[in-house]
Amino acid sequence: MKQFLVLLGILLLCACSPYQTAGALNNAVITQAPSLTAVKPENTQRTNTPTQFSSTLTPTSTPIPYCVHSPLAGEDLNGLKEILSNPFDPPPFGQDGGHHGVDFAYFTHGDQTSIQGLPIYNLLSGYVAANLADTIPYGNLVIIETPLNEIPSELLSGLALSMDPVPDDPNYRLNCPTQVFDFNPSLDKLSIYHLYAHLEEPANFPLSEYIECGSTIGKVGSTGMSSNPHLHLETRLGPSSITFNNMDHYTASASIEEMTNYCLWRMSGYFQLFNPFILLEKINVTKP
Ligand SMILES: [Zn+2]
Repeated sequence: MKQFLVLLGILLLCACSPYQTAGALNNAVITQAPSLTAVKPENTQRTNTPTQFSSTLTPTSTPIPYCVHSPLAGEDLNGLKEILSNPFDPPPFGQDGGHHGVDFAYFTHGDQTSIQGLPIYNLLSGYVAANLADTIPYGNLVIIETPLNEIPSELLSGLALSMDPVPDDPNYRLNCPTQVFDFNPSLDKLSIYHLYAHLEEPANFPLSEYIECGSTIGKVGSTGMSSNPHLHLETRLGPSSITFNNMDHYTASASIEEMTNYCLWRMSGYFQLFNPFILLEKINVTKP
């Protein structure tokens, strides 16, 4: 109980955020039966072998326009550093403490008097992997998936990302349903996942819709476990083609399915955190 309260306190301070699927966007009441909603590719087996992707990547031959866009209107890289209110602090696999992303917030910045309602832009072109409303702790959230094989090789190599071995037993320090162990996706193809949390309003993107870099995702809000308006931005590397229909924890109404998805996303080791500034440092490297 004490640990739970501590974690809850940390989350409240960090002001992180949750998500939910397109189908449940306008339905705050969750009545799902316990079943895993994350898509499970076949031929799945956990591995302890580090995934080497950078050397085997096949850069797309399609000359798609490419960019890395600031996630916040009016803020370049220096501006983002100035309004960083809570830095990246990843916990070990199986634990939910620390801070899984970065927070941007301000009361005044330049000629802006409040971050509330500020447009949030898509950092990297990709596909909607989650679009959820009223989740705990993330509030209204959007997750965008960018397959590594759609990222130009010169940019990808500059990110120097790596996937650590996924633990067979992450030793969960939170109440995680046993269903998390049924999730064994293939790691042959990997993607970057961006989570944008605490949005003012739920978004309306259908799952798998392609979202261009620089497109508006929503507006900065304070939904979910958030004490002040801010953007919580989370970046992970994980198995491709995974979508989430819901995600919830730290609330008595959370279903087994929602808690399972939360644990998979944050603690299983399948979706591995990296510092969002690794990508933010590349803002405007290439413009579309
Ligand atoms: Zn946060």
